[in-house]
Amino acid sequence: MFDEDKGPLGEPVTHLPGIGPRRAALLAALNIHTIRDILYYFPFRYEDLRLRRPDQWADGQRVAVVGTPLGPAATRRAGKRVITSVPLDVQGSRLYAVWFHQPYVGERLKQHRFWRLVGRWQASRGSLVVDHMEPAEPGSEASHHAGRIIPVYRVAGELRPKWLREWIALALRKYGDHLTDPLPWRWRQRMGLMDKREAMREIHFPTGWDRLKRARDRLVYEECLRFQLPLQWMRCRRNRGQALPIRLHRETWERFLAALPFSPTPDQRRALREVAGDLAREEPMRRLILGDVGSGKTVIAAAALFAAAAAGAQGAMLAPTEILAEQHYRVLSRWFAGLGFAVWLLTGSVRGREREECLRDMAEGRPGIAVGTHALLGDVPFQKLAVAVCDEQHRFGVLQRMALAEKGHQTPHLLSLSATPIPRTLAMALYGDLDVSFLTGEPARHRRRVTRWLPLERREEVVLELRRRLARGERGYLVAPVIDGGASEGSEPLTDVLTLYEEMKEKLAGFAVGLLHGRMSSEEKEETMRAFAEGRLQALVATTVVEVGVDVPEATVMAIYHAERFGLSQLHQLRGRVGRRGDDAVCYVLTGALTEAAKRRIEAFCSTDDGFVLAQKDLELRGPGEWAGLVQSGWPKFALVDLSRDARWMRRAKLHAYHLVRREDFWLLPAYTRLRAPLLEMDQPPASD
Ligand code: ADP
Ligand code: MG
Repeated sequence: MFDEDKGPLGEPVTHLPGIGPRRAALLAALNIHTIRDILYYFPFRYEDLRLRRPDQWADGQRVAVVGTPLGPAATRRAGKRVITSVPLDVQGSRLYAVWFHQPYVGERLKQHRFWRLVGRWQASRGSLVVDHMEPAEPGSEASHHAGRIIPVYRVAGELRPKWLREWIALALRKYGDHLTDPLPWRWRQRMGLMDKREAMREIHFPTGWDRLKRARDRLVYEECLRFQLPLQWMRCRRNRGQALPIRLHRETWERFLAALPFSPTPDQRRALREVAGDLAREEPMRRLILGDVGSGKTVIAAAALFAAAAAGAQGAMLAPTEILAEQHYRVLSRWFAGLGFAVWLLTGSVRGREREECLRDMAEGRPGIAVGTHALLGDVPFQKLAVAVCDEQHRFGVLQRMALAEKGHQTPHLLSLSATPIPRTLAMALYGDLDVSFLTGEPARHRRRVTRWLPLERREEVVLELRRRLARGERGYLVAPVIDGGASEGSEPLTDVLTLYEEMKEKLAGFAVGLLHGRMSSEEKEETMRAFAEGRLQALVATTVVEVGVDVPEATVMAIYHAERFGLSQLHQLRGRVGRRGDDAVCYVLTGALTEAAKRRIEAFCSTDDGFVLAQKDLELRGPGEWAGLVQSGWPKFALVDLSRDARWMRRAKLHAYHLVRREDFWLLPAYTRLRAPLLEMDQPPASD
């Protein structure tokens, strides 16, 4: 991956004096094998051990001094302790240096006149409890361990942070000159970035907090850029195919807006502008709309599809389930009635003549929009597919997305919709090869959805509320964490979906209660969902399969049993199922025994109804690694970049990488050799044109 791996920096760490096989094995446990590895093993924190005058020390502070003993050391016993102390002169101040259980220190002290000592200052006793000592030449104030801002490294096993300081200092001295700067000089100048070698020295052994920050910024930017370059290059190559540039007249857009039953929110307008901008280019659109459940993503999709049809071409919209496809079909047919193009429905249940007619129309290249499920991915003979939309993109594998993109003679513009809110900072890295538009807020809702947190013992209150609401013609979901509690391990008995179903049939007697879980066949599931959507069922007892389901506007109650078992984003997805019409809705979270982490999660969940805010909290509670692991495996491991604070650098790097790979001189000029090399080594993709 790194061109540096081939030069001297690729040598094994055992080439450093003092590292033999035993220590190399300890380092290997930290994934440090080569000189490069150890140089890129960055401190996780720093300690300010610069020399200060004793009158500036605070009680209990760790401090460093250079001092000289004023007399012999004395060792005494106090209870079980063996205490050695020596009077010390530090810049003209007199204090005591103290050691516990090191009676031989006295002998050692005799060997040198000046010592550098690190320890904790006990003001009341006027003594420094020493934990590190080293001889100091007069006039040499700093070492790697004292007298400066020192790096602290994470260690494991018998490794000591001190050793790492020694080794890294040695590696910097012996190999530092082999560190090469991949960023061209001019570029660094323009951005005011520190030189690479200097940055590497500063990040390990800072000469000041300001310079440390500059060093870190520089290295973070480089890491972001190295991460973004291959992504942007893949995207550039993948998009070599040409898409149909769709430039619509203002009046045509006006017609679209006039067809909507509402006027778009500012967020939606911004996303619409971004999509329109993408569509006007020959480079195929690769855009992701990230918006909470109910944030109004459909209208953005509709605009892109409309643009295709209005330009005399075709659009396709994929939904994860038949019911969702039918829902989209109904909405789009309503909005686009009388605009002069077709809206086709193509799902597994559309058969016979109806299906044949659709297929014939499409094959003949009639302008229109096809809505369907995966079935669309089959042998649909699109003639002029110009725009494709995937709803709930995380339900589709990348391959499926690509397969969809290969349809037709031209590469279609591609739009994905995702209802999993992701903090902007993470989205930037996670979807490096996509452009992202964010939709926040819920236009149709007027903040009348409340969240109530109850212990499971108070579950009767949920039943009461349900009965009240069902009697008014509303509907409710009851969600349990497992299908069959008998199979679950753990000390506490869980309310499972089967038990809950039996319980509710009894307690909601007089109302129609349905059951939905993952062990049912997909036909059974669809049928149950349909019955609920149409009102033949009034309450639905389910596992998280309802997470991505239909939009049932009449649903106003959600009760989540054992909410402590669910992740934050899952809880939020579930809550998003109710209150879709703006009616006042309630989401109950019922919890059993809570761990500290679960408690914090539920508190966060109850504190806000904004998916992006929640996602950000989730990120803070769990840290980026674990969080992202749930969203997508293969999450990059960064040496330095911390996505919860370095979003700005990631964004800049993305933009720079995007333009860089498209610049001719990037591929020619020697100044870019080191940035280019990893890209040239990447496998050539199958030819796309
Ligand atoms: P989602 O992002 O979950 O797909 P939808 O597109 O289904 O959200 O929109 C949710 C509801 O909000 C729909 O009933 C839709 O008609 C309505 N809606 C969307 N945008 C607006 C708006 N700007 N003003 C009023 N209602 C809107
Ligand atoms: Mg939707």
